[in-house]
Amino acid sequence: MAFIIDGKKISQEIKDELKEKVNEYKAKGIQITLAVIQVGGDPASGVYVGNKKKACEYIGIRSLAYELPEETTEDELLSLIEELNDREDVNGILVQLPLPEHIKEELIIQAISPAKDVDGFHPQNVGALSIGQKGFVSCTPSGVIQLLKRSGIEIEGKECVVIGRSNIVGKPMALLLLRENGTVTVCHSRTKNLKEVAGRADILVVALGRPKFINQDYIKEGAVVIDVGIHRDENNKLCGDVDFQDAVPKVSAITPVPGGVGPMTIAMLMHNCVESVRPVD
Ligand code: NAD
Repeated sequence: MAFIIDGKKISQEIKDELKEKVNEYKAKGIQITLAVIQVGGDPASGVYVGNKKKACEYIGIRSLAYELPEETTEDELLSLIEELNDREDVNGILVQLPLPEHIKEELIIQAISPAKDVDGFHPQNVGALSIGQKGFVSCTPSGVIQLLKRSGIEIEGKECVVIGRSNIVGKPMALLLLRENGTVTVCHSRTKNLKEVAGRADILVVALGRPKFINQDYIKEGAVVIDVGIHRDENNKLCGDVDFQDAVPKVSAITPVPGGVGPMTIAMLMHNCVESVRPVD
């Protein structure tokens, strides 16, 4: 029978470990502060920002909320980031994406000091990951590594296939699996014979952004399947990129949606915030 990887439980474990660390810092007089910037009133972003604030509260991290109007200019946002970069009492800076169209995301990401870039999106942190140096790592893929490790699933020497090559999930995911000594293949929208390539995987990480796209035809018997996707299905129920019901009889372990990768992203953001107290070297 398939082992269902419990992201809720594992993320709670991580948050409780971090809470203890934060208390140790507090005892030494160190307060961790995360600045969260949201531009415009996108309801989904509002929910994400709210969840991040709640997690900060739980762990004991101070959060500063900047809720800026939709018409905020690029220059105004850049000067706020500059101010936060310079503030010694601010450890982490997070700009909730997506930004309104008139603001260039790339420019904003690059303006955040790499030492405060708790999302791990700054080119310096991405570069550090690719050459095996220390730095902040994108939260969703680092959450996947934690799910695997804390479920006792070995990565070293395994055939790992990542479906999706986005900058925030697929690419850093592939680099992290490589860092763990997996043998890594990355598939994307131009990949030929996806079924054949995915079907070689001992560990299959799916981040392609299409509801229930991956069924058991893409999965090797006994594979571990990690589903990063989040969608609403025709009945408005949450589902992933993997057709869970179809896949489950064929896998050795699988993440559900909800309750798999999703809760890990915020837990790893909190991890990065705690790490931000020390200068990244
Ligand atoms: P994206 O749209 O930026 O990238 C999708 C990738 O999938 C692309 O690289 C594309 O080449 C590839 N792809 C698309 N169709 C394909 C196909 N038919 N065959 C092979 N490859 C294909 O998406 P993303 O931001 O990486 O997110 C992927 C999914 O993960 C989405 O469902 C998103 O909602 C979800 N997500 C979840 C979390 C979380 O916290 N759980 C975080 C980020 C993203």
